[in-house]
Amino acid sequence: MISRRRFSQISAAMGLSLMNSVNALSIKTQNSSPIVVSTWNNKKANQIAYDALIEEPGALLDAIESAVNSVEENEKDLSVGYGGLPDNSGKVSLDACIMDHKHNAGSVCFLRDIVHAVSVARKVMEESPHVMLAGQGAQDFALEHGFEKTNMLSEQAEKAYLKWKKNPVFSPEINGERHDTIGLLAMDSASDLSGACSTSGLSYKTPGRVGDSPIIGSGLYVDNKVGAATATGLGELIMKCCSTFLVVEKMKQGLSPENACRYAIEMIVETQDYSGKQAGLIAINKQGEVGAYAIQKGFIYTVADADGIRVLESNYYL
Ligand code: ASP
Repeated sequence: MISRRRFSQISAAMGLSLMNSVNALSIKTQNSSPIVVSTWNNKKANQIAYDALIEEPGALLDAIESAVNSVEENEKDLSVGYGGLPDNSGKVSLDACIMDHKHNAGSVCFLRDIVHAVSVARKVMEESPHVMLAGQGAQDFALEHGFEKTNMLSEQAEKAYLKWKKNPVFSPEINGERHDTIGLLAMDSASDLSGACSTSGLSYKTPGRVGDSPIIGSGLYVDNKVGAATATGLGELIMKCCSTFLVVEKMKQGLSPENACRYAIEMIVETQDYSGKQAGLIAINKQGEVGAYAIQKGFIYTVADADGIRVLESNYYL
């Protein structure tokens, strides 16, 4: 374990913004400044959440929602929100969830024609008696709550789809541009924890396919007394191991965030055929320590705290 300050000194000395094996480090908070951690290189989203938490320390969900919204709006992100790659019928469908420090949760899956899936998930949490809405029901609920219909297929995604259609082979191996799901966890200055996850899921999936991302305990889990975790990668692997619930339970038993993520990744590789497939987990505990682990090399995540924003590479099984 290494303190955040010491970590910054090392990073500066090495002149690295992306460090392999930093993964081995956890980041311990020494003050009450907020901490935001997200999957992949989501620096902009982390900055939005961090700044919002500095400005309005109590508005944890607002900070998380606006950060995730910024990714959902970004058409260049090919696996979240507008611009996400479609299913094999050429239609984009979204999965998202949100969970707060009071153990409230909301979720939508197989949602079509709405950009801000995470905001609909929050509405489900706050304005319905349910946790999860799917498909047409989720869309109807969104429209009733003031969301607008949008054609979600960007020009770029349509082009990619038409190219794929010429040789329409589906493979569950996740590589390259096919994953970027945002899972984002935040701790505010009162050490309360919340998180959200949003994705367009696997590109060229079977219509109706839902992954881990909107499933509480698979794509996201928060236990405010213990910590929080979120996932990215092949949902079919993650959801059969309830991976984020497992990570948080392992932190409850005393494992560090990285070791808890490692435990959950090991459960995936022990139980399933993982060859050529990726799953990555990130976690934060109540002490503000952050960790991550993945099946394969190449999983990066972003941390924002009082020492700034940096993109780190996780340790991995293979
Ligand atoms: N976990 C997402 C899903 O399976 C995809 C990803 O993160 O790449 O839908």
